[in-house]
Amino acid sequence: MKRSRKFIVVFGCGRIGSAIASVASMKGHNVIVVDKDERSFRRLSSEFSGFTVVGDAAEFETIKKSQVANADIVFALTNDDSTNYFISVCSRYIFGVEKVVARVYDPAKAKIFEESGVEVVCPVTLMVEKLRFYIDGGDKL
Ligand code: AMP
Repeated sequence: MKRSRKFIVVFGCGRIGSAIASVASMKGHNVIVVDKDERSFRRLSSEFSGFTVVGDAAEFETIKKSQVANADIVFALTNDDSTNYFISVCSRYIFGVEKVVARVYDPAKAKIFEESGVEVVCPVTLMVEKLRFYIDGGDKL
């Protein structure tokens, strides 16, 4: 049976990571959020009740000490595709995390992530999909 309270590790506490970590914490999940810059944690909501880890996610030691081994979900949300790939592959294959979701800037790299068993959110692709709506006359709907 699935636990309703998940253990979630979020790498990157920028505009996206801080929002998703805050939402997950507010929903009652156990959250660890990791960033190389301590000042980034100021973006977390005042109700955030998880843990923060300061460290460079491009280093294996940071991933290990962020308790990825116990995670139900890992979000790789730094602003660097290579770092997100490193986090994702370590989480998936060294620590056996079932659900790994990465932010990928370069749409051309999305396939490499997917072939590694990582779910991808690509802001560029999402935005193009949204903008296509206007070409199809969506503004009149
Ligand atoms: P944003 O683009 O606003 O979503 O911010 C990205 C966040 O990722 C920032 O808070 C960065 O400090 C963080 N970040 C970038 N590279 C790393 C890294 N190697 N390890 C940990 N955090 C990182």
